This record gives sequence, structure tokens and C-alpha cells, in this order.
Amino acid sequence: MISLVDAHCHLDSDIFRDRLDEILEAARCAGVRKLITASIHPRQWPVVAALARQHPEVVFAQGIHPWYCSDDVLPELPRLAAAARGAVAIGEIGLDIKKMPYPLERQMAVFTAQLQTAQQTGLPVIMHCRGAFNEMLRIFKEYGPPPGGILHNFSGSPELADQFMAHGLAFSLGGVLTWRNSAKRNRLLKHIYPDHLLLETDAPDIPPVEARGAPNTPANILYNLRAAAELLGETPEAVADATTRNAQRIFGVTL
Ligand SMILES: [Zn+2]
Repeated sequence: MISLVDAHCHLDSDIFRDRLDEILEAARCAGVRKLITASIHPRQWPVVAALARQHPEVVFAQGIHPWYCSDDVLPELPRLAAAARGAVAIGEIGLDIKKMPYPLERQMAVFTAQLQTAQQTGLPVIMHCRGAFNEMLRIFKEYGPPPGGILHNFSGSPELADQFMAHGLAFSLGGVLTWRNSAKRNRLLKHIYPDHLLLETDAPDIPPVEARGAPNTPANILYNLRAAAELLGETPEAVADATTRNAQRIFGVTL
């Protein structure tokens, strides 16, 4: 029996309401032993913490996503450290210039404040970054890197990955693996395997090709595992072992 960790999902999504027991049972049957559910807005901080209390296989991360850094969340930033008590990470935090409801300057300020909370609490980070890798690296240069963590759904090149790995960071990949269409992503995958690759679903988003047309669920991580194994020329067991080991090392999760 393989053991997997879903390094990034959103179990607090309305889509899963009233179905969560069923969703988690399916994940268990797929070999998922731990799930890291990340908040995206202060409103959800108590919700994800409660999910972790109710379900032993669920652990949580606390943060403000770049799509949600509105004026009214700014006064909440000082509360993040307290909200992250018992969390395994600060996240989902990041920068996004492809979809940008708030100006990059605002996103950078909110990201930097949360990076500093990670540094003060010693928690690793779960980061979203689209089109702003250089800005993120510049923030690390000025304020110091986070104390470990991952870039989720990383879309950069192997060369860019090297710059983040030099800061002690790793990468989680999910449904995009099943597209099997990108030479750049395949090069990246080979470059970061075995020590810097984790698996995720980002459920309910980014369903694998094999499960399109419905909200993504953590049990679909098996499709991502199979695609990763196929692209790497490894067995699914070997990829499961490596990615689970990395999740344990980075987030301190126990199975
Ligand atoms: Zn996410």
C-alpha cells in the first residue's frame, strides 16, 4: 500500500460542504495519509483549523492568497501568527501578475508581511507564484528567504527552480502533470526529482485530465502520481516514497 501526502488542497471549499467525510474516505482508499489544507482569506482561518481538529488526517496552513488582499484584510495581518498556532505552514501566500485583482505593490506588501510571520514563527510556507518569480526572489534577497516550504503548481524553468532551491525551497505539482504536453515541465520534473518534488491536487481546482468535468478531489492524486512516474520513468511506489518523504521533512507531518 502506498502512502501519499496531498501537499496542497482547499478542503474548506463550499464545493466539499456536506461531502467531506466521503471525500476523505475516498482519499484514504487512494493511499492519502495526510492532507495539507490551506486557507486563502482570514475569514477561513478558523474554518481550516476546525477541519484539522475534526479529521486526524487533515493538517492546515494559514494565509492570505494574492487574489484576496483587499483593504479589509490588511488589519488582519497581525493576527496571522496567532491563527497559525498548530498549523504546519503559512500559506497560501504569493504573487500573481497574470490574474491580478490587486496591484502588485499591494500583493508584495501582503506577501512580505506573511513571509516575516513565517520567519518569526519558524513555519515553512506554501506559495503561489505566477509571472512574478523575479519579484519574489527580490523580496527574499531583501527580507531573507522563508524557513523552508514549497512553490505549489510551479510553472518555472529548471534554471529558475535552481534559484528557489538555493533558498531551501521545493515544489509541489498536481493536475498539470497529467497534461503530459510540456517539454519544459518534463525537464523541470526530472530536475527536481527526487528531493524537491511533492505531489498535490489543489482540490477542488486543477482536475487531472482523467477526471475532467467535475470538481477535483484529493483521491485524484493517484492520476498525478501515475503521470509523474510515467514522465520520470520511475515506479509509482518510488515516486510516492520520495514525495511523501519530502512532505514529512518540509512540513514535519507524521503519517
Ligand atoms: Zn491553492
